[in-house]
Amino acid sequence: MVGVCQHWRQTTPPYAKLWHCAAMANHTTTDQTLGAAPPVGRDPTTSLRLLAVIPHPDDETYAMAGTLAAAAQRGARCQVCCVTRGEGGGDPNVRLGELERACALLGVAPPLVLDWPDGGLAELPVEPALARLRALLQQARPDVVLGLGADGAYGHSDHLALHRLLRLTVFGLEPVDRPQLFEAVFPPGHFHRFWRALRRAGFKSVPKGWGPERFGAVTADVVLPIAGFAELKLAAIAAHVSQLNGRAPADFLMPGLMQPLLEEERWHHVTWADGVSS
Ligand SMILES: [Zn+2]
Repeated sequence: MVGVCQHWRQTTPPYAKLWHCAAMANHTTTDQTLGAAPPVGRDPTTSLRLLAVIPHPDDETYAMAGTLAAAAQRGARCQVCCVTRGEGGGDPNVRLGELERACALLGVAPPLVLDWPDGGLAELPVEPALARLRALLQQARPDVVLGLGADGAYGHSDHLALHRLLRLTVFGLEPVDRPQLFEAVFPPGHFHRFWRALRRAGFKSVPKGWGPERFGAVTADVVLPIAGFAELKLAAIAAHVSQLNGRAPADFLMPGLMQPLLEEERWHHVTWADGVSS
C-alpha cells in the first residue's frame, strides 16, 4: 500500500496523490486494483472523511487550512479535533469560539474538543491518552488523519507530544481500521526564526538547542498548491483574533512567516518505517 503511494510520487498531481493515498484507507493490501489510478473524472475525495487532530485552537490554520478547505470543497467530510481548550493563550471560551468560526469559514464540520491541559500534553499519562484518541478515531472513522510533524512545526512541547500520541494511536489500530496519517511539514528551516524568538522571549514550551536543521527536516511526500485558498486561509487565521495581537493575518505568529504557507501546504505520509519515537 505504501509502495503504491511512493510509486505515484513522481507521476501524479499532488491533490490526486493525497486523495489516492487517502482513498486507500481501510482497504486491504491484497487488493491489486489499489495500484491503479482512479478512473478519469472520478474524484475520490467525495466520500472521504478527514479528521485533523490538533493541540490548540489556531493550529488548524497556518498548518493545514488550505488542505481542509480544498478537501471540503471537493466534498470530503472534514472535521477538526482540538485536544485542548487553548487556555494557555487566553479565555478558553473565546478561543473555542474562534476555532468554531475558523472551521465554519473553511467549510468543515463544527470542531470536536477534548479538555486536555494546554501546556501539559507531554505530562499526560500515555495509556489513557492513547485510549481516548483510539476511541475518537473509532467513533469518527476517518479515512485520513492530519496532524503535525516530528518538529511540531516550531517545537512546541504540546505539538511534539500530540505528534507522538497520534502516531502511536494510528499505528496501534488494526490495519483494517487504520486511517492514513499525514503530518504537516514545512519548508526546511522555516520555523527556526520563530523558535528563536520564542526562546528569546523565555517561552518555556519549546526545547533548547534546536538548530535550523531540526525544522522542516522531513521530506514532503505531497505538496499541495493552495494559493487558490489563500484568502480563505487568511480569513481562518483572522478568526483567531485573540492570537493576532493586532497583527495582520498575513503576519500571524511573526511578520513574514505566513507567505510561503499561503502558497503550498506540505504533507508527509507516515508509514511504519517512520517509527513512533521521533
Ligand atoms: Zn499549537
